[in-house]
Amino acid sequence: MAQTVKCLIIGSGPAGYTAAIYAARANLSPVLVQGPVPGGQLTTTTEVENFPGYPQGIQGPEMMNDLRAQALRFNTEIREALVTSVDLSKRPFTVTLNGSDIIMAETLIVCTGATAKYLGLPDEQKYNGMGVSACATCDGFFYRNRTVAVVGGGDTACEEALYLAGLAKKVYLIVRKDYLRASKVMQKRVGENPKIEILFNTNTEGLFGEEVVEGAHVVSHLGTPREDHFDIAIDGFFLAIGHKPNTAMFDGQLELDADGYIKVKAPSTCTSVEGVFAAGDVADPRYRQAIVAAGSGARAALDAERFLVEHTL
Ligand code: NDP
Repeated sequence: MAQTVKCLIIGSGPAGYTAAIYAARANLSPVLVQGPVPGGQLTTTTEVENFPGYPQGIQGPEMMNDLRAQALRFNTEIREALVTSVDLSKRPFTVTLNGSDIIMAETLIVCTGATAKYLGLPDEQKYNGMGVSACATCDGFFYRNRTVAVVGGGDTACEEALYLAGLAKKVYLIVRKDYLRASKVMQKRVGENPKIEILFNTNTEGLFGEEVVEGAHVVSHLGTPREDHFDIAIDGFFLAIGHKPNTAMFDGQLELDADGYIKVKAPSTCTSVEGVFAAGDVADPRYRQAIVAAGSGARAALDAERFLVEHTL
């Protein structure tokens, strides 16, 4: 017989764990399914300096361990599994784990987050794991005293470039516009780092190398009289061009926006299906911050609790 739970949470980032802490303390006995990246995106970052309560900053993975421990302290049941399908057509909702294990859920809190985007070049596939990466903190170690490139002009790209500059000999930051979109503090740090060279107005056309990445074909000022095609010698190519929400399994079941983010009825976390709530980056194209995700996770748990009371479940 399938297990029936009052509150099922999908995802183990700041939103998921915070939802679990709130739901558990409200006696909803939540079950949290970790998903493919236990701990979420913060496990692939370095220092988190802007999460309140850590005056000296904290390493991303350590913070996620703390959140997990706090969720466990209030008896959240954590499942190390993947959700492979959901059926939201009737309540309780049917959620399938690992293709076979079924959980019936009176309420569902979706905190599946977002995943790094790639440029879409065939060479990214060709050299995946052979010099191409979307996670500097995961793979930067392999590029000590080597030359690498980071693509992107946002906070993530700057953060990754700074992290890599601590290991590598040289870091190119490939920025398609003539300015960085990143916050002023990050721009300043990148600008002041002697190991980082910013290539503004530059796009990547391809990668080359015998077996692993040995360089990138780039073009600057594309489509202008100053258009210039040239190669840079690099050992590693890091993508930091943003994220896409992890909503494929909800397509056709929950209302999504044009970019695939789950639509919520602000200021609540209610989705287009009663009893399903969404929190964190999966429903947030705007802020995408750990603290904002955690806050929305708390709101989702409170919304789920209210829903259960109203439906005397
Ligand atoms: P952003 O969307 O902010 O930036 C993406 C960058 O990638 C932009 O510079 C964009 O260029 C560039 N880009 C997108 N597509 C392409 C492409 N096809 N080719 C080349 N370049 C491309 O994403 P981030 O991941 O940097 O940040 C997301 C959010 O998270 C932001 O709100 C950010 O502030 C926040 N954040 C905060 C941190 C912190 O405070 N410590 C750390 C990391 C992220 P263009 O500008 O031309 O569009």
